Amino acid sequence: MPDGKIFHMTPEEFRKRGHEVVDWITEYQKRVESLPVLSTAKPGQIRSSLPANPPVQGEPFSTILADVERLIMPGITHWQSPNFFAYFPANASGPSILGELLSAGLGVQGMLWATSPACTELETHVLDWMADMTGLPARFKSGGAGGGVIQDSASSAVLCALLAARERATGFQTNEAGCNRTLVAYTSPHAHSSVEKAVKVAGIGRQQLRFVEADRTGAMRSEILAQLIQVDRRDGLEPFFVSATLGTTSSNGFDPLPQIAQICREDGLWLHVDGAMSGSAAVCPEFRHLQDGVELADSYAFNPHKWMFTNFDCDCFYVADRATLIKTLSVLPEYLRNQASESGAVIDYRDWQVPLGRRFRALKLWFVIRHYGVEGLRHHIRRHVELGQQFAGWVKSSADFELVAPAPLNLVCFAHHAGDEFNRQLLGSLNQTGKVYLTHTILNGRFALRFCVGQTNTEEIHVRNAWDLIQETAGHQLRHSREK
Ligand SMILES: *Cc1c(COP(=O)(O)O)cnc(C)c1O
Repeated sequence: MPDGKIFHMTPEEFRKRGHEVVDWITEYQKRVESLPVLSTAKPGQIRSSLPANPPVQGEPFSTILADVERLIMPGITHWQSPNFFAYFPANASGPSILGELLSAGLGVQGMLWATSPACTELETHVLDWMADMTGLPARFKSGGAGGGVIQDSASSAVLCALLAARERATGFQTNEAGCNRTLVAYTSPHAHSSVEKAVKVAGIGRQQLRFVEADRTGAMRSEILAQLIQVDRRDGLEPFFVSATLGTTSSNGFDPLPQIAQICREDGLWLHVDGAMSGSAAVCPEFRHLQDGVELADSYAFNPHKWMFTNFDCDCFYVADRATLIKTLSVLPEYLRNQASESGAVIDYRDWQVPLGRRFRALKLWFVIRHYGVEGLRHHIRRHVELGQQFAGWVKSSADFELVAPAPLNLVCFAHHAGDEFNRQLLGSLNQTGKVYLTHTILNGRFALRFCVGQTNTEEIHVRNAWDLIQETAGHQLRHSREK
């Protein structure tokens, strides 16, 4: 602009650029399969390609969008590639992306019911739907003493659960007078690192977190849990919290919930259940047995942003007793006082989470549920499990590879017979091809490759090609090592 004035984007220009961005995303969806899955950028490479200083004058939108291709894409690992089998999936889907866009367009702040009633009420409603869709008990629904809320992540969910448990155990004295140093929490060595982080953040102290021994399948041994609780009580400590996992990150192990829940009930401990990825499987009735016992938990969380076609971030967090959670997290400054809140007739979700502000995340989840329908979601999740099982079957019948852990759903942990170093090299070579992306774990002291089927667009052909590539790469590597 000659006079140096920078104008806001007009609605008409927004329409034009918006169409361009949607076109860009559409083309990305069409080509993502052919892109190298894992970014090959070196540390600092992306940054060194960016200008040292911000632009003094505004730039044309077309230049900005072109720079996404030129400067950003080299540093993207393609989580939305159907050849992505690493970690756990981070699903996106058409309806979810569009719901996310609408949420940005509305730009509402849903901290209080009064700051956008639809943001709160849609969330409550969709979480009640989700409880029914995944076979959760009525006590987690808003009609009773409990209820659901969308958190940014499973990590925030376990932190909120731990804080509420801490206050229940201390009669809200920790909130009032500071940290009580005798509280003890329990989880399994295979639990997600977010449990340990929550224990640090909540001031419980890492030394007050017991890692209860697990069996060879990665499941917590409940009889050891019971013993540890007894010993801690005898030593004058206060056991207060257990976090159990449905589908561990490392190997998809399932803790024995009915036994753990029984122990927690008898001893008055808060039971939090983390079903981050595998919780989505419960949308299919045939997989619900894997979450038996969840009906006895105090809190439960799973991530539609992993395996239910909903963009990050979206974690569904349920509590059986919302009053404890709200009393734990509620602080009411004068400037937030309003009639609706005081009437007690509404939910203010700011009291269900650590931050005050919150995005309209329910919109994308609502879009996803309505686009696919419950049957549509079941279809895709079933298909992923079938493909995971097919892959596990190939591993089992192979002369060179074996399963290193049970594969109850869509995650397969496997290894070549030639040993840890061979497997480590194999993983590196596979990822270097750009044709697949897998990650690893250590199970019972052994290096294992992890193959997780759950990307929105993964089909049989991708799984088949990946298995062919794995066998072929291992074959080359074996011949090469013999020649040496
Ligand atoms: C992925 C994962 C988490 C962490 O999820 P975030 O939503 O990224 O915090 C927690 N628990 C388990 C079992 C997971 O697999």
